[in-house]
Amino acid sequence: TIGMIAMDAKGNLSGACTTSGMAYKLHGRIGDSPIIGAGLYIDNEIGGATSTGVGEEVVRNVGSFLVVELMRQGYSPEEACKEAVMRIIKKKPETAKNIQVGFLAMNKKGEYGAYAIQKGFSYAVCDSSKQDLVIKGKSYY
Ligand code: ASP
Repeated sequence: TIGMIAMDAKGNLSGACTTSGMAYKLHGRIGDSPIIGAGLYIDNEIGGATSTGVGEEVVRNVGSFLVVELMRQGYSPEEACKEAVMRIIKKKPETAKNIQVGFLAMNKKGEYGAYAIQKGFSYAVCDSSKQDLVIKGKSYY
């Protein structure tokens, strides 16, 4: 999955995501990416979030909506992503050892962050001062 969150010069947020889905998926399977609130969610008053990884777990937790709602409650983007990951791990501790789910978020102030279950989740940031900055996201394992 490729997920993006953008802020324009006026501070308006938007987002997009695209995916090839999971390898060996069942015919007709719908992952998280095409479901607003799961793979992507933007609230222009608060922030936006997007996800990658095993979509079933993201859908079950309405992951990107959850991240935005946590930011609404005052969580930083990284804290919100971490809390959403922790809920997935808490519900399925054994399964979580073997799967990847990662969230990326940005709030209305332009602060951003990410968190994933497995390490190796990195993301790119582009703005007028930080062209093509690649950041290693934090992870549970
Ligand atoms: N999230 C996608 C899905 O479950 C898979 C991916 O991250 O590429 O369909």
